[in-house]
Amino acid sequence: MSELLQIEAPRGRRHPERPPWLRIRFRQTPELEAMQALVREKRLNTVCQSAACPNLAECWARGTATFMLGGNRCTRRCGFCDVTTGRPEPLDSLEPARVADAIRTLGLRFAVITAVARDDVADGGAAHFAATIRAVRERAPGCKVEVLIPDFKGSEEALATVLDADPDVLNHNVETVARLQRRVRPQAKYARSLGVLALARRLRPDIPTKTGIMLGLGEREDEIRQTLLDIQAQGCGLLTIGQYVRPSAAHLPVERYVPPAEFEAWGEEARRIGFREVASGPLVRSSYRAEELAGALPPSL
Ligand code: SF4
Repeated sequence: MSELLQIEAPRGRRHPERPPWLRIRFRQTPELEAMQALVREKRLNTVCQSAACPNLAECWARGTATFMLGGNRCTRRCGFCDVTTGRPEPLDSLEPARVADAIRTLGLRFAVITAVARDDVADGGAAHFAATIRAVRERAPGCKVEVLIPDFKGSEEALATVLDADPDVLNHNVETVARLQRRVRPQAKYARSLGVLALARRLRPDIPTKTGIMLGLGEREDEIRQTLLDIQAQGCGLLTIGQYVRPSAAHLPVERYVPPAEFEAWGEEARRIGFREVASGPLVRSSYRAEELAGALPPSL
């Protein structure tokens, strides 16, 4: 469900060369080391590491991380995602408190919490999300919480469980255009994801919804435009548009590296269509600058 990309250059002749705007230099800093130690000590999983996110050094140095609940094995196998597929461990009931403690230690004002898809448990992990939101409220009051949720197979009950815990932002990624859904995330569905966004608005119109799509998977312009219209029609106001980068040779190929100017143009178009806040760029991720997108904090970059 999450935008899980890493920055390894695609291998093989078929694939375009990684362009300069995607070449990131990784710098070890004291802030980064401290964050790494905390994540180890609390036995946490982060999307940043599991997906070898190109923004990791920069985000962690700023004390921003996307925590990943439910272990590091996912019940789904999305073609773009580097999280291992397999039978997950049972949910750890102490994990919500550990995540909340890490957030308190870091003094975060805005935390993004996601999870692997837990199709193996009846509620898809919804109660675990809710418990984590509540733990953050209790142990790190003042920290805003964005949850990046799976589709819970479209379950209204599961979605309501998460919304009842009062997240500040409800994020669910559509990931790609309708035609490419089966190839990109075979266990998910375009209409179902749109339904999650629409249902969240209906159940809790006071909680902003957010979604993200990736470009570079072979989508056409008209399909991107239609996807933006479809998402906006669900009342979703916050949007990220980023570049797909292939995690390894075993993942879906990159069809195209979209130049920064095109991302800018799509950002403008999305705003014209009616999105309230849009982050669109080659290195934008679904959790990228969530605080700015939600209008909770002034832009820090
Ligand atoms: S559902 Fe699992 S495999 Fe798909 S993007 Fe999320 S974590 Fe990755």
